[in-house]
Amino acid sequence: MAASNPHMDRYLADKAPPVCSLNIADSFKALTKQEKLYSHYLSDASWAGARIIMRQTSAASEKLFDLLVATFSSAADPTKLANLAQLKHKSGVSDEDWDAVLAYAAQVFSNLSNFRSFGATKFIPRAAQDAFAAVVAAAERSSVALPLWKELASEIYALTPEASLSIGKPTAGHTSAYYPSSPPPSDAQVDEVQALCDAAGISTLNTRLSRVSDTELLLLVASSGDLPASFPKSLKSDKLGFTVRLEARDYSDALGRVNEALHEARKYVRDENQGQMLEKYEESFATGDIEAHKQGSRHWVKDVGPVVESYLGFIESYVDPSGARAEWEGFVAIVNKEQSAKFNTLVDGAPQLIEDLPWGKDYEVPEFKRPDFTALEIVSFCTGGIPAGINIPNYHDVRENDGFKNVSLSNILSAKAANEELTFISPDEAAQYRKWEDKAFEVQVASHELLGHGSGRLFQEQADGSRNFDDKTINPLTGKPITSWYGPGESYGSRIGPVSSSMEEMRAEAVALYLAGNKQILEIFGFKTEQDQNDLAYGMFLVMARAGVRALEFFDPKTGKHGQAHMEARHGILRWLVQHGIASVDFVRDAGGKLVDAYAKIDREACLARGKEVMGRLLLEIQVRKSTGDGPGATQFYRALTKPDQAWVDELRPLVLAKKLPRKVFVQPCTKVTADGDVELVEYPVSVEGVIQSFVERAL
Ligand SMILES: [Zn+2]
Repeated sequence: MAASNPHMDRYLADKAPPVCSLNIADSFKALTKQEKLYSHYLSDASWAGARIIMRQTSAASEKLFDLLVATFSSAADPTKLANLAQLKHKSGVSDEDWDAVLAYAAQVFSNLSNFRSFGATKFIPRAAQDAFAAVVAAAERSSVALPLWKELASEIYALTPEASLSIGKPTAGHTSAYYPSSPPPSDAQVDEVQALCDAAGISTLNTRLSRVSDTELLLLVASSGDLPASFPKSLKSDKLGFTVRLEARDYSDALGRVNEALHEARKYVRDENQGQMLEKYEESFATGDIEAHKQGSRHWVKDVGPVVESYLGFIESYVDPSGARAEWEGFVAIVNKEQSAKFNTLVDGAPQLIEDLPWGKDYEVPEFKRPDFTALEIVSFCTGGIPAGINIPNYHDVRENDGFKNVSLSNILSAKAANEELTFISPDEAAQYRKWEDKAFEVQVASHELLGHGSGRLFQEQADGSRNFDDKTINPLTGKPITSWYGPGESYGSRIGPVSSSMEEMRAEAVALYLAGNKQILEIFGFKTEQDQNDLAYGMFLVMARAGVRALEFFDPKTGKHGQAHMEARHGILRWLVQHGIASVDFVRDAGGKLVDAYAKIDREACLARGKEVMGRLLLEIQVRKSTGDGPGATQFYRALTKPDQAWVDELRPLVLAKKLPRKVFVQPCTKVTADGDVELVEYPVSVEGVIQSFVERAL
């Protein structure tokens, strides 16, 4: 048993993670046979990339996954669950150790790693190491599991060096499988490779970077086959005196399987456009060319109002410490028509709503592309962590020229674990908070995705010298003409760097708060009376303030870094609200002066009177730096805003860690083609055992 000191307790796996179901059976049943087959093969394609996520996270993740599958699967059929009662009995471990091993396994499966996708820190089992060993030794497939255990046991329990327990730059001792060599490439080399790739028009989104020697680097490109003939064999840096060779076939086994499943799915598309979309994805995964995925994404944007919705590929770059490389993800979902109608009304109002945003016309997209905004019910989601809403594609040029889609994941939003404790809210307003929390969150997510991520422009110069802006445009922060913009091939992530993901989340969250009192939006969501509208707007600010307090859980004082992009953003917003007299955090002390509780508070009057103006000022600070590609300015402003006060780090953070709530785990169904060619949805018990069974049967 490891961690006995409270500081290290945060690296323990959650004791009894609340397990939630996706509740998708009824909606799935209503699909036609063709739609079911389409969703089955797209689910297969999504999950075929699961091993990519493991390989992107840490060196040990994939073997750990295999160890756990081997431990809990049947010898007679490794795609079936072992007899767990027998396994427990044979291992002779205590109930407590057994539960801890199961809880650990369910969390590794759900994160596809022993690093939390939400928070980016390692977690270790609560079970004693010899108990865990006894379970592995008792496994029906111990001949497979034991050698893996011997190789991994010390790594599974390792808590030193402490820097290695966080995902981050390997040059600072952190863990990142995006830079798999030892020693890793230097920070200067990583930046220089990015600049070389930007100049050559090669995306780093689906790559990893290895250092062979001081003069030779290797850019590993995800593909199942050869790179396009148009790609250079290598790029040379005169500045730093190295050559970076491009090497194909990173994750080729996984991407080969992805493409087999996509090929099958193409038989069940609803129209030609959907077929072209899948064909382009296949091309991208075969050749490593992100341009083909971009084209596929254009078809995807045109695939308006489908019954079965999906997206897959290298999408979000939260895990790469340099903010440029993206994790694999893939989802399949069914559109919820009733709720989508509500969102469509919001989309109708969007062009007018974004005119109200505080940065003015020059900084806004010239024409708001009407997105498809739907409420989705997830059937399957291959990812280390399921979000509540998504706004994609992330390619800025596709978004500006073709548009984007916005989705709210209703069965994720509504998933509730039983008896969840309410922390950091004063008992006086606990009942009111519970009444408004979900409603406030629904409006927050809708505005965040549609009007937050959907607004604001980048000043971009093309290779032919053409520009989408006037260089006499005034920077409202300086009162002078702008001095920077995006050059050919440069993207938001590549120019703004490590703060880019989190700052964009802050921008979207801040837009939602800025519009919290907007009557047009509130009426669409059914809040008609002034009392309800004010309660809802106040609720949105209070939900944010509470999240800002809880964000300290993901802050690491040793490194001075936040481990989770959304939570860093919420902490920064809380600080901004405190600085502007709208929020406060009240400390509750016992007779001895020890901090025993804390309450996030919003000054209701100030919030309703000045909340919009205060959020508007924050938005201007962020949007101007984003539009002009001002990396140094953005980094300086953002780091200062999200850096917690020392008093909060010293006193409030330990309290937040002590009151930390376990993170929800979802048990996802599997789909299987039956003998008569139909598709069966296989559901599992809503328990950690059910999560384990689902991963054994998924046979990844
Ligand atoms: Zn977002």
